[in-house]
Amino acid sequence: MASTRTLIVGGTVLHGPALTGTFRKADVLIEHDTITAIGSRLPADDAEVIPADGAFVLPGFVDTHAHLWEATMRGLTSDWNLAEFFWGVRVNHTALHTPEDLYAGVYAGALASLDSGTTTSLDHAHAILTPEHADAMLEGVGASGMRTVWAYGLTGAPTPDPAFASPEDRFRDLRRIRAAHTDGRLCLGVAVNDPLAVAWQVTEQEYALAKELDLLVTGHLNSVPTPQRVPEAVLLHRGGLLGPRQVYSHANTSSDEELGLLAVAGAAVSCTPESEAQMGMGFPVLGRARAASVTVGLGSDLQANNSPDAFTQMRLARHLDIAHTSRPILETAGLTGLGKVSVTTREALHLATMGGAEALGMADRIGSLEPGKAADLILLRNDSPRQRPIVDPFATVVEHSGVGDIDRVLIAGETVKANGRLVGGTGERAVRLVEAAWERLSDRMAERGGPSPAMPDGVLEAAAASMAPNLPEWFSA
Ligand SMILES: [Zn+2]
Repeated sequence: MASTRTLIVGGTVLHGPALTGTFRKADVLIEHDTITAIGSRLPADDAEVIPADGAFVLPGFVDTHAHLWEATMRGLTSDWNLAEFFWGVRVNHTALHTPEDLYAGVYAGALASLDSGTTTSLDHAHAILTPEHADAMLEGVGASGMRTVWAYGLTGAPTPDPAFASPEDRFRDLRRIRAAHTDGRLCLGVAVNDPLAVAWQVTEQEYALAKELDLLVTGHLNSVPTPQRVPEAVLLHRGGLLGPRQVYSHANTSSDEELGLLAVAGAAVSCTPESEAQMGMGFPVLGRARAASVTVGLGSDLQANNSPDAFTQMRLARHLDIAHTSRPILETAGLTGLGKVSVTTREALHLATMGGAEALGMADRIGSLEPGKAADLILLRNDSPRQRPIVDPFATVVEHSGVGDIDRVLIAGETVKANGRLVGGTGERAVRLVEAAWERLSDRMAERGGPSPAMPDGVLEAAAASMAPNLPEWFSA
């Protein structure tokens, strides 16, 4: 349990949302799970005192798109492209996961995120093969202590003997979990099937169920670059399905018209620059989404592939955007044509904190340090030779700091990392569980073509062809 009162003393606090807030020397008083005061020389009284000299006090990072369970295969897919990932993981390896494996993956993925300063995650849980798989994933994320929107995945994986024979079977299982669960630090959401992966009528049923159960919706959108691309946001718009409390990941191939539709609907985008750039999902949509006034958060996507680390996402998000926007100017006007950088360090930190909170509809509770908000925060050391002098604290955080500088992480006032280490043996437990899961999985993979199964010719064409009948009759691009 969190101690009743905690006082963080002597740190340099980012007070307010990153976009408008200021860094200043201050103390932070936490009572139970909430920040109750930020100010100078607050009285300690009976509070537990945490010294923060030589550290920034920042809001915890918010990850708006993660598949935590895939931490079981950490590093397996880092040299794969998106098509190889589709074949290797979605078609082959997902169904090899038992509930025990999923618990291990989710727990280890969440602990890796906490270790990296992420205190809230939207977990897109798309490996649910049986009700026991769902229970195990939910238990894993609950045991981690991370603040999570756990989005029940309605996407299955090919198995010879599926436990869910129809969409209705899955809906029944989601209703079961919804009835048994009370939202707290762990909230429920739903991860819908990718547009056209299922019959349009099923997509409509998925959105209707989310509305009935009052769940945040997340899903992949416009994330597969193909010449025959269907404008998925237009499809959802014309089908009357776009709306607020929806977070669409990637959206790389969205047209400006589609981004406008998302903005008007109040739907948000999760930009995951590290996985998008590595796997070949197209250029991150960040700059165009911001120009269209879409709410944007950052995401880490999959630890089978890349880091869970917000520092990496912040840097890649802005560096890629600056490279992309400056290139045509350099080619025509040269250096004299360049204006201000397209994403500042302050804006990057905002995307990783308050932007994510806004995307998840949780901006009243998380995303910044202010009295009345949840005590989800990190102490980031700023006294190493890599960081001094501190000319601009936003630059120090975004460009000159990393996971190794995170001294302490608190969620709802509870310390989950201290002195640079996860507390209570959680880190060691995560390593033990996930290594055992990988051993079991690699044995199963060995019986089925190995960890990197060869992709037969025509797989992608067959997948594309299977989607065509799912287009609603009324739609023509
Ligand atoms: Zn994803």
